[in-house]
Amino acid sequence: MGIFRKLISAMAGKDASMDNHARDEGWHLPERSRDELRHLFQQLDKPVNLHAFTREGENDVFNHFLLGFLRDLARLSERILVHEHVLGGEEALRHGVTHSPTVLVAPERLRARFVGAPLGEEGRTFLAVLLMVSRGDSGLTETTREILAGLTEERVAKVFVTPTCPYCPGQAVHAFRCALERPDLVEAWCVEIGQAPDLGERHRVGSVPQTNFNGVLDVLGLEPEERFAAELVSLKEQREAPRPARYKPGETVRVDLLILGAGPAGLTAGIYAGRAGLSSLLLEQGVIGGQVSLTPVVENYPGFANIAGLALVEIMAAQARLYCEIVHGEATEFALEDGVVRARAAGLQIEARALLVATGATWRKLEVPGEAELFGRGVSHCATCDGYFYKGRRALVVGGGNTAATDALHLKNLGVDVALVHRRGELRAEKHLQDSLARENVPQLLHRTVEAVIGQDRVRAVRLRDALTGETSEEPADALFVAVGQTPNTGAAVRLGCALDADGCIVVDKAMRTSVEGVYAAGDVTGGVRQIVTAVGQGATAALTVFEDLKRREAQAKA
Ligand code: NAP
Repeated sequence: MGIFRKLISAMAGKDASMDNHARDEGWHLPERSRDELRHLFQQLDKPVNLHAFTREGENDVFNHFLLGFLRDLARLSERILVHEHVLGGEEALRHGVTHSPTVLVAPERLRARFVGAPLGEEGRTFLAVLLMVSRGDSGLTETTREILAGLTEERVAKVFVTPTCPYCPGQAVHAFRCALERPDLVEAWCVEIGQAPDLGERHRVGSVPQTNFNGVLDVLGLEPEERFAAELVSLKEQREAPRPARYKPGETVRVDLLILGAGPAGLTAGIYAGRAGLSSLLLEQGVIGGQVSLTPVVENYPGFANIAGLALVEIMAAQARLYCEIVHGEATEFALEDGVVRARAAGLQIEARALLVATGATWRKLEVPGEAELFGRGVSHCATCDGYFYKGRRALVVGGGNTAATDALHLKNLGVDVALVHRRGELRAEKHLQDSLARENVPQLLHRTVEAVIGQDRVRAVRLRDALTGETSEEPADALFVAVGQTPNTGAAVRLGCALDADGCIVVDKAMRTSVEGVYAAGDVTGGVRQIVTAVGQGATAALTVFEDLKRREAQAKA
C-alpha cells in the first residue's frame, strides 16, 4: 500500500510533509491513507486488541511512528483497541517483551508479535493479520490445515524482515496464519531487523526473509505456504512440496495443459487456456510471480503507471486462479509418449496433452572465489530484499544492464553508499536509467571485473581487476549485489529434447511451438527483450496455439 512507501521515506527523513500536514488535525497518517484504511477496515468483524510496548530512549523515532500509527487506527475503526504499555512494566514481563517497540496482536487468544514498528513492507503483513484475526479465519489452504492438525508440540516461528523486502510479508503472513490456526501450540514473530539488530545478529541474518523455527531450523526466502507448515511441524527442511489435500496420494491428475512456472507468461497462459475451455494445471516450484515479484516498482506495464511488482503479480495470480489450478512443487520424471506428457510433482502423477514451459530465468553468478561462500552474508541478487541492511554502509553493484542500474538507484535511494562496477567502458542500461545514475551521482567503476569476494563471516571487500591495465585493487565493501544477467531455466525442455539457441534459450516459432510437438515455451526462457509485457503476450499466444493444435489433433483422430 502507498502509505507504507510514504512511511519508509518519512523514516529516512525524506518526506517530512506527510507528518506535518497530517498533524494539523491531530492525525499521524495523511488523509489519503486514512481513506484507504477506512475502506479496508469495513472488512473487520470482531474487535482486535493491540498492545504496544515502548521505552523512551530506545528506537524513539520508531516508537513515535508506531504510537501515532496505532492511535490513528483506533480512531479509524472502533473495532481496533489500542493499549499502550511501558517496556519493563508488568505487562511486558508477563508476555516476555524485551524490545522497543513491540506490538502484540490479540494476546488474549493468540501469540502473534511484531518486533519493531511494522511501517515498511511488513505493514502489509500487519494489516493482513488484523483482518484475519478480526474475522477469526486463518485463510490457510485445506492442505496446510491438514498438516497443522498433526502438530503435537509447541512451535515458535520467527520471520526476520526488512522494510523494503517484497518477499518478506508473504513469509511472515504464513507464520501468523499458522499461529491463528493453532493458537494452542504456535507462536509467530515478525522481526524487523533494522529495529532489533541484536536479534538479527543472534540469528546470523544476512539475507531476508529468514525464518527460524524453534531455534533449530533456519530457512531462507519466501516459501509456498504448505512447505512452511510442513517445516514448522517437522522442524526439517522440506524439499518436496506437500500434496494438495483435495487429491489422494499418488492420484493421477489429467489435464489438457500442464504449465511450468507461475510468472507473467504462465499465469497469462492459465487465463487464456481456461477461457478457451482447456483444463490446465500450473506448477510453480518457487514463488508465484517469479522475478517480477522482486521488482520494487514497475513503470512500463501498460495500465499501471507505477505499481510494485508484487502487487502486479498478485492481481495476475488472482485472475489466473479463476481459470486454472496452481500447485506448488517441482516437476520430476518427465516423459513425452504418444502425445501425452507425464510428470510427477507434489506427490501426484500428472498427465497432460500439452506442456508449456514458462520457467523463466535464474540470476547468473560471477563464479568467482568467495561468491558462493558469502552468499546471504553480503553477496546478494536482491537489492530490494537486502539493500536496507546496508543503509549508511558501502555496497557495490556489478553489471551494466537495466537490473544493475535499477538496483544501484534503489540502494542510493535507501541511503547506501553505492558504486557500480562494470566490465566495459559503457553501460547497456537504457538511457533513462543512465541519466538517473548521473543525476544521483552514483560512481561508476568502469573497465573493472570482479576477481574475488573477500571476507570471513561477512563481505569485507571485493577484489577488482582493471581490464585496461591488468592491475588489481581491493575495494572495501559490506555487500556485493550481483546483477550480471540471467540464465534461462531450460532443464525440462532439454530433457524432452527441445532445441536451444546460441544463448541457451528455447527456440520457438511465432506461435510459441518448440522443436518438439506438444511442447510450447513462453517468457524469459525463450530469451528476447525479457519484459513483463512480452511474457504476457507470449503466454497468451502459447495458450491459443495449444487450443488450436489440440482441436486439430482431435479432428484428425476422428477423421
Ligand atoms: P543484461 O541486460 O543481460 O545485462 C547483464 C550485464 O551484466 C551486462 O552489462 C553484462 O556486460 C554484464 N555481465 C554479464 N556477465 C558478466 C560477468 N560474468 N561479469 C561481469 N559482468 C557481466 O541483464 P539484466 O540487466 O539483468 O536485464 C535482463 C533483461 O531484463 C533485459 O532484457 C532488461 O531490459 C530487462 N530488464 C528491464 C528493466 C526495465 O525495463 N526497467 C529492468 C530490469 C531488467 P556487457 O554489457 O559487457 O555484456
